[in-house]
Amino acid sequence: MTMKCERAQTQVMAYLSGALDASSAARLMEHIGQCPTCRAELDCLREVTNTLSGLGVRPMPESAANRVRERLAENRSRPRKPFFSGIGRCALAG
Ligand SMILES: [Zn+2]
Repeated sequence: MTMKCERAQTQVMAYLSGALDASSAARLMEHIGQCPTCRAELDCLREVTNTLSGLGVRPMPESAANRVRERLAENRSRPRKPFFSGIGRCALAG
């Protein structure tokens, strides 16, 4: 592994919002290619991002993404809300 999962996953949202610089994105993609866990995270967040753009919501800034991540951690043991069904699958994959 060229990058720790923890670091990779903090960069996934930045990558999806186009905020990640090219060299960091390349390292992230290298890790994603080798790590099924982070690939699942990317796929899930991409799906969520696409859903949000479909609703006319702008991509989340990283601070908001971190809040979502905290909510995810809280929600793992709670019943899912329909809006977060995609994220729920993500939590299962992780
Ligand atoms: Zn990983």
